[in-house]
Amino acid sequence: MRALMFRGPMAIAWEEIETPKLLESRDALVRPIAVARCDLDPAIAIGLYPMPAPFVMGHEMVGEVVAVGEAISNVHLGDKVIVPFQLSCMTCAPCLRGHTNACVNVPSGTAFGLGPHGGVDLGGALAELVRVPWADVMLIPLPEGIDPVVAAGIPDNVSDGYRCVAAPLAERPGAPVLVVGGLAPSVGLYAVMAAIALGAEKVLYVDDDASRLELAAEVGAEVMNAKGQWADVKLEQKFPIVVDANVLDAGRNFALRSVEPCGVCTSVSGGASSESNIPLQSMYLKGIRYEIGRVHACATARPVLGLVSSGALDPARIVSKVVPFSEAVDGMTLPVTKVVFVNDFV
Ligand SMILES: [Zn+2]
Ligand SMILES: [Zn+2]
Repeated sequence: MRALMFRGPMAIAWEEIETPKLLESRDALVRPIAVARCDLDPAIAIGLYPMPAPFVMGHEMVGEVVAVGEAISNVHLGDKVIVPFQLSCMTCAPCLRGHTNACVNVPSGTAFGLGPHGGVDLGGALAELVRVPWADVMLIPLPEGIDPVVAAGIPDNVSDGYRCVAAPLAERPGAPVLVVGGLAPSVGLYAVMAAIALGAEKVLYVDDDASRLELAAEVGAEVMNAKGQWADVKLEQKFPIVVDANVLDAGRNFALRSVEPCGVCTSVSGGASSESNIPLQSMYLKGIRYEIGRVHACATARPVLGLVSSGALDPARIVSKVVPFSEAVDGMTLPVTKVVFVNDFV
């Protein structure tokens, strides 16, 4: 079958590889229909985020079930399904707590489309077929009437944006939210959309990219252009809920500086280096809670799908371009916020 292989920075191509087969009774085979480009994918493609190669790219997928093992009963041939990007058994203690990124039955970080970096190499979504273990609990049926292109980001980036605001807004319903945009471009905008859908009284989006500021305003945020001068940005108020989707030190420290006493800031990335200059002393004195860690995709995708199904959150509003699989090599580095690849190999 054809699969989009990453062999190193700027070395991506469609290659013929072995077609996956059902290996276990709880496996399913899924034919990807729509695959969203994760915010991390272009950074991997150009070498900004170094990854061991080779591996098949793509990990935000909606597909069609084309084969099931004998122990599968929740999904059926022909079902359209959302595939959370991390592999989770949904039976171990962390999975049952909702910490599905910490499943003890797979090596830490096991995920589609990220190769051996993610534990076991499960293959990727930019391919003609994907084997999904534990398919009964991993696969989420796509409700009738929802376009796969709309749902394609739910397995990762849409859920990532949602989790940054859902728990804090449940603690403080209606509270105002600040989102600091940047290197996780779609996650920040999905956080804006989720905060509005969940009833935040106000969402302020600060970034230094004109096109993302425009998108944020379109989906209902107040916006402010940081013009790259993060140290000089002054806000009229501090915020109880802050999201750092900027990723770089200057943007993250602006985010931390903007949290009101006893508020929470969630970062969607560990930044560009393992060494960071985090202002711990001022955070301690103000009682700032700092959340950092990967999304729990399998647990989070379900409530996110609920918001999408109800019409409260439409992820397609920030999809900049729909690109056929056959043009995915160029699409991987298109300088736009969100790309969704659609399978034209059928
Ligand atoms: Zn991702
Ligand atoms: Zn588990």
